[in-house]
Amino acid sequence: MPHPPTIHTPTLKSRLPQVGTTIFSVMSALAQQHGAVNLGQGFPDFDCDPTLLAHVHQAMAEGLNQYPPMPGVPLLRQRVAAKAAALAGRTYDADSEVTITAGATQAILTAVLATVHPGDEVVVLEPCFDSYAPNIELAGGRIVRVPLTPGSFRPDFERIAAALTPRTRLVIVNSPHNPSATVWTRADFEQLAHLLDGTDTLLISDEVYEHMVFDGLPHVSAASVPALAARAFIVSSFGKTYHVTGWKVGYVLAPAPLSAEFRKVHQFNVFTVNTPMQHALARYMADPAPYLQLPGFYQRKRDLFLAGLQRSRLRPLHTQGSYFQLVDYSAVSALPEADFCHWLTREAGVAAIPMSAFYDGGYEQGLVRLCFAKRDETLAAALERLQRL
Ligand code: GLN
Repeated sequence: MPHPPTIHTPTLKSRLPQVGTTIFSVMSALAQQHGAVNLGQGFPDFDCDPTLLAHVHQAMAEGLNQYPPMPGVPLLRQRVAAKAAALAGRTYDADSEVTITAGATQAILTAVLATVHPGDEVVVLEPCFDSYAPNIELAGGRIVRVPLTPGSFRPDFERIAAALTPRTRLVIVNSPHNPSATVWTRADFEQLAHLLDGTDTLLISDEVYEHMVFDGLPHVSAASVPALAARAFIVSSFGKTYHVTGWKVGYVLAPAPLSAEFRKVHQFNVFTVNTPMQHALARYMADPAPYLQLPGFYQRKRDLFLAGLQRSRLRPLHTQGSYFQLVDYSAVSALPEADFCHWLTREAGVAAIPMSAFYDGGYEQGLVRLCFAKRDETLAAALERLQRL
């Protein structure tokens, strides 16, 4: 043995050179450090229905603890398909067109990896959830950002049309929308269907807030527009709907040929998703009441939070759907959004998410996002602090 081997960790060329830790983790850690009320990262601070927990215990006690089938527990896929048929009016085959995923974030990454080849263009509407662009980058795709209309956050179909080229492999849309809390109408989806007509462009429709749409508005799913459903991956999340974001269980609906390609990646990505939670969710879904009652449940929280904000110097924007509330803080501070969020967490004791985190290159408009999926006492504590600003 002439020389011992050198101790050397190779320098990596980053696959995601622009990316740091997600803003959601950063703000949750900061909130914890300063004992702030955390209205930043979107998750409930209350527990799920004890019945759902009992179903998990029961499934574990029954010995349902080994791998389930790769695409998910059959009963859960059947219940998801039945829900889509009842609410969106489209029949998905539970065997070949429904896949259970480790949350919606994994579902979206997997759909992108399954469809995007290096050099393909993917249209995203900005502002958008912070995982979309890195997902496209990992697949070697080219990110094409189309702004939503400033102020209203409505889709601008002329700009979307102008962004489509023969290289557009995929468009990613999200309604109810994180972070703007707006929703797409049926006419919006129909316009998109016309734009994609005659192309081979696919669609990912991120609908994780599908059961949080307010004021009697319907949730319009891309699944309910046949010309879109034929080219779409519809993504949703049990975590959002049943107050169990940490379980990381979601699903994807897509026509069989698209699902087949999705599953090729899924099986070598996570292979499958934890068994007892899937059985528990399947049994719990026998009763549609929990998701049918969710709009009323969250509308009450939205209104409670809004009434309190109206007694502050923050200017709330209108929330049509999701569990987020945007506020304009320009009467309170001239700081850029990220600095304001740090200041608000440290000095006022309330954590928020800067709107700039949802834009490439940090567009500033004096807005922050607050999450109202919190116990009434938590909202009251946050409001008391926000009203002092
Ligand atoms: N979707 C949630 C949000 O927008 C959190 C997701 C996450 O932390 N990755 O805050």
